[in-house]
Amino acid sequence: MIHTETLYRSNQIIFIQLKNMGFLHREKNHCETCHEKFDRRDDLIQHARKVHYQSITKCRNCGMEFLHEEDRLRHVQQEKERKIDMRRHR
Ligand SMILES: [Zn+2]
Ligand SMILES: [Zn+2]
Repeated sequence: MIHTETLYRSNQIIFIQLKNMGFLHREKNHCETCHEKFDRRDDLIQHARKVHYQSITKCRNCGMEFLHEEDRLRHVQQEKERKIDMRRHR
């Protein structure tokens, strides 16, 4: 009984650690609405658009599509940082 509880606790700790590391934050190519999994990110986006009529946001710079505005904003931010980096290294 005590043993099971300790095991459960240590599993919880591992779970929290993974979560903090971002592993479990959002499953890769995983539909949040029906939990279907896809091999490619593009397939997931096509699925969300066709099956769930989800609106897709697009990066104005490279045309990459995103299911969430926050994802797009993060990507745009990363692109900006990359551009600054490139300038710095030149
Ligand atoms: Zn779905
Ligand atoms: Zn982009």
